[in-house]
Order: sequence, then C-alpha cells, then structure tokens
Amino acid sequence: MATLKIDNARYLITLDPQRRILRDATVVIDGQYITHVDKAEALRHVAAEEVIDAREMVVTPGFCNNHMHISYAHATRGIFPDDLDPMVYLAHVFTLQGAMNEEDEYYTSLLGITELLKYGTTCFLDPGSTKYLDACLQAYAESGCRIVVGQQVVDRPNPFHLPVYTTEAAIRRMEETLQRYHGQLDGRVRAWTMPFDAAFCSDELLTAAKALADRYGTGMTLHQANRPATVQRYLADYGKRPVQYLDDLGVLGPNVLLAHVIDLDEAEIEAIARSGTKTVMCPTAALKMGSGMTATAKLPEMVARGICVSLGTDAGNNSNLLETLRAMYLVAVVYKDARRTTAVVPAELALELATLEGARALGLEREIGSIEVGKKADLVLFDTRRPEWRTLFNPVNSLVYNADGRSVHTVIVDGRVVVREARPCYIDEWELICKVQTLGERLLQRTGIHFAPRWPVM
Ligand SMILES: [Zn+2]
Repeated sequence: MATLKIDNARYLITLDPQRRILRDATVVIDGQYITHVDKAEALRHVAAEEVIDAREMVVTPGFCNNHMHISYAHATRGIFPDDLDPMVYLAHVFTLQGAMNEEDEYYTSLLGITELLKYGTTCFLDPGSTKYLDACLQAYAESGCRIVVGQQVVDRPNPFHLPVYTTEAAIRRMEETLQRYHGQLDGRVRAWTMPFDAAFCSDELLTAAKALADRYGTGMTLHQANRPATVQRYLADYGKRPVQYLDDLGVLGPNVLLAHVIDLDEAEIEAIARSGTKTVMCPTAALKMGSGMTATAKLPEMVARGICVSLGTDAGNNSNLLETLRAMYLVAVVYKDARRTTAVVPAELALELATLEGARALGLEREIGSIEVGKKADLVLFDTRRPEWRTLFNPVNSLVYNADGRSVHTVIVDGRVVVREARPCYIDEWELICKVQTLGERLLQRTGIHFAPRWPVM
C-alpha cells in the first residue's frame, strides 16, 4: 500500500498518553499504520506518495460510535410522530426491520456508513440488527469503515415480536457469526455475541454468549437501558436490579459492553466498576425518547469510578442522527446543567469518550483511538476555514463546543482516504440517497405503516 503524509496541520490532537496537541504537525502513514507523528519541520525529509496539505486543519483520531443500528437507519427515517407510545413505536420499528430485504439492508447500510464517515465516525458497532451480513459485508468493504457486527438473538417471547430462537439455535447462530465474520476485511470487521436484551434471554443463553466471547477472544454487547418497568420487574421476580442480576450470573467482564445504562444504582455501578465491564451511552436517543437521562444517568460519576464510558447514537428513528460529535457535545453540556456545575465533563473528557474510550470499550485501544506511531491510521481532518471554527485558540474547546461534522474535510480509515473534500470517495452519494428514498417508500408500502406529518403537506 501507498504512503500518505498529512502535512503541516495547524493542530494535531494526538490523544496520546501525554495528551499532546502539536502545532504545525505532520503524520506519515504507511499502509494501514501510522509511522511518524512530529512537527512538520522534523519530518520535512520524509517523502510520501501522496501528500495532503493540512495547513488550516485540525486533525483528530477517528470517532467511535458504539451503538448504531446501521442497516435500518435511513430507510424510514423521521416517520414517527413525537408522542407515539414507546411500545407502539418499538413494535413498528421491529416490524420494519423484519420486513427489510437484502437489497434494503445493503443500500441503507451504505448510506448510514456514508453519514458516519462524512461526519468523522470511522468505527462503529451495529448491535446485531443486520440480517443479511453477507450483503452488508460488501458495503463495509466498499466504504472502508471499521465495524463490530453480530446477530441479535433472544430465546424468550418478547413484546417486539423479535424472532424467538431455541436456546441451542441462538447459541449456534452467535458462534457461526463469530466464525464467519471476525477478522474479515483485514481485521476491520470484528464479530461479537449480541443477545438483544437480557430481559428476553434465558440465563443459559446469556452465559453461553459470554462464554463464546471469552473463547473467541472477542466481545459481547446487550441492550441494558434499565427502564423503570424493567427494574421493577427484576426487583419483583429476583429481588435485585438488572445489572446485579447479570453480575450474579457471571456475565459481566471487560469484554462486555452494556448499552444505554440510563439508570444504575450504586450497587450496579460498583458491579460494573469491579468487573471492568464497559458501557456505551446514547445521549441523542435518550433525550429524544424522554428517557430521563439527565435525572438518572450517572456518566460523570461512572467516569470518576474508572468505568469505561463510550458514546453511541442508537437507531435512525429514536436518535435520528448518527453523528458521534453531536453525542460528544451533548454529554459535555447536559451534565453541567443536571449537576448545576460547569466542573463536570470538561471538553477534554468528552473528546476522550468519543475516541480513546470508544476504542477501549471495543477492545481496540491498542489499534485505534489516538494518533500514535504503530497505531492504525484512522484520522479526521477538520477544515477550520469556516466561521464556526473561528477564532481559534483552543482546538479542543472549539471542536467540542463550536464545531460539528459539517467541517469534516478528509477522513482516513486504515490508511485509506474514504472522504475527500467532504465527499465520499467510494460512491455517487446522490444516486445512493435516491435509491434509499425509493427503497424506504417501498418498505412503508409493504408494511402498511404510515404516519402523516402533523401539518398538511400541500
Ligand atoms: Zn439499540
């Protein structure tokens, strides 16, 4: 593979152990890997096949979105009225997901990935809702993204009409997914076990999912929102809250990623901290769905306890956006308001959650999450020749509080330029958008799901 030089960046935010921010800095990439990080002057002698002039750019590591239902994201976005009953909403969502065919999934995944990449997210976890992984693997290959995949399984009846497998079939399905997809595309694809939600899985399935993740040296994720009704049911049935239940079952650990964690009590936080379990919080979805995040979620307190907290956005109809930077901005501001102090979640921490901690939550901290020699080259170049970036004195504050994905200029994943001058390199974007619009219209027709906008469309 070719060598690439990102030359003379105005600021390079390395996220290295010293958290150095280099002015007038250069990064050299050889194949997938970063080979040099230094002042431009010191690397003047290093030649490369391609040089990108980064003079007015701020360069950061690629962002990680650790909970994003990619295949469904764009097909029917924004159709639901705000005040739809959450259970009715979820039933419709799973009906739509169930009705998606291979073509739908391929194109909506490709458009979802394009939105992620264009706004700086280079790595994401799809929590198991993709049914046609072979077709979507093609989309992952073409776009060049880094992804964690799996198959969501349940073996108990559930209100969402998710397919209920026998326990043996569910375990087999998870293991086949690990065997088939883990390590694909030069290691850009990782496969995890993904029991959908502990509430709809038997103890046997949960322990098998964790055992598979251990045996294959990979991870496990599950939805763990801890909504009030779920917590009440666990207390009534087992006399303990959901995360304590998982802890006693022995399925917590450093390779387990709990999604949402909107409401945890002290004992649950203790169990997560002690077991080294990782978490991902989805502020854009929690806020839009009225989950009570600002009242119950304990992000600052969890970070203070040394718990790995990463960021996600969840799906295309409960968050409606895929942009990790907006999740980063939200966690930097909402907890200040909730705790009535500006001392919590400083901009630097918010950026760590979206990069380094995102990588750590996926077990990829040795590969990505910072700009260091020997790491994989996942980089984002922000163009600061824009009003929202100026004036520019503190690049971390400017990135977290004033900027967003609109200023992403160039994106590199695994050493390959996938977005150049704000355009995806691998696809005709408008053609793809038109295709997904058509597929979404057909999907709504097929399922008969229809909600008119509140205001008359003339
Ligand atoms: Zn989810």
